[in-house]
Amino acid sequence: MTTSRPIRARIFRAALLHNYRLARRLAPTAKAWAVIKANAYGHGQWRAVETLREEADGFAVLECENAVALREAGIIQPILQLEGIFSARDARAVAEFGLTTVVHCLEQLALLLDSVTPGAPLAICLKLNTGMNRLGLGAADLRQAREILARIPNVELTLMTHFAGADGECGVAEQLARFSEMASDWQGPVSLANSAAILRHPQTHGDWVRPGIMLYGASPFADQSAEELGLQPVMALESEIIGVQQLAPGDRVGYGGTFVAERPMRIGVVACGYADGYPRHAPSGTPIAVMGKMTRTVGRVSMDMLACDLTDIPEAGLGAPVTLWGNGRAGCVPADIVAAAAGTIAYELFCALAPRVPVGVDDE
Ligand SMILES: *Cc1c(COP(=O)(O)O)cnc(C)c1O
Repeated sequence: MTTSRPIRARIFRAALLHNYRLARRLAPTAKAWAVIKANAYGHGQWRAVETLREEADGFAVLECENAVALREAGIIQPILQLEGIFSARDARAVAEFGLTTVVHCLEQLALLLDSVTPGAPLAICLKLNTGMNRLGLGAADLRQAREILARIPNVELTLMTHFAGADGECGVAEQLARFSEMASDWQGPVSLANSAAILRHPQTHGDWVRPGIMLYGASPFADQSAEELGLQPVMALESEIIGVQQLAPGDRVGYGGTFVAERPMRIGVVACGYADGYPRHAPSGTPIAVMGKMTRTVGRVSMDMLACDLTDIPEAGLGAPVTLWGNGRAGCVPADIVAAAAGTIAYELFCALAPRVPVGVDDE
């Protein structure tokens, strides 16, 4: 739905393609599953698929229904189900549509094998728990799963794991050592690396990498910006000034009156609030761009509005363009910075973009 309310998200397809190519360049001997779960991290699954369909080695999704929809849309590359099947129906779809499915526990393996025609070709990623303790087989279960699968024809096997700390201090060494130990007799393909590992830990690249956040142009690291990594922002969240207030010293702004003007100020009210996906916990001082200039938010974020300081941007009146995050008409505000100010990560901002925000595609 398009609305006349001025908020918009714009998606830069060329940036998505650039970021995917960067992932491929950084891991030149690996193939890359473009991770498009969670509606392509809020960017629109189909927009991402259309943008990458000529180049992506494969796509990674969460729900079986999405994997099937991709097949039905003519995607012929491998499609990985990141958490595997959730039901017998999923299992039958895996076989019917030639999906690559994660198996993370023996029960899931049994469900899969009990649900498909014996001998049907299967592409399976056995997921090893190497220390994150979320999903994955331990050493004994891995041995058992491999024994079961060795007795079945037409199984194409990959071993995979997921890192808990590739983006930070703890790194990948411990989990990588555990993986090597568990897979010591394994000669086949492996898949280990998320964005952070692709960018920082080349020893993890293996045969298939799984870039997610980097595709969308945000940094997985707290200590290195997306720009420094050569990534381009894919989403711009933009709006306009819809109200202007003149404040005297002592005047307050917004719910709770948490912001108090210390001097005469001019503030702008922006058509964007937490019901659009802007984080309510972004405090006064969060960077925001208006008419090409950087300024800061003031006061609490409301459901439909937030306020910003226009004191030093006198040319900005009603209708002035605002960039909340991304590379927009009013300037560039890294989503990572807005996220950090709000105590979260860009992943969450992107995924929280509300359905009421109209999205446009930018093909420049
Ligand atoms: C989401 C996901 C990824 C992508 O992670 P990023 O940090 O966004 O690169 C990779 N692997 C698995 C198993 C995932 O669930």
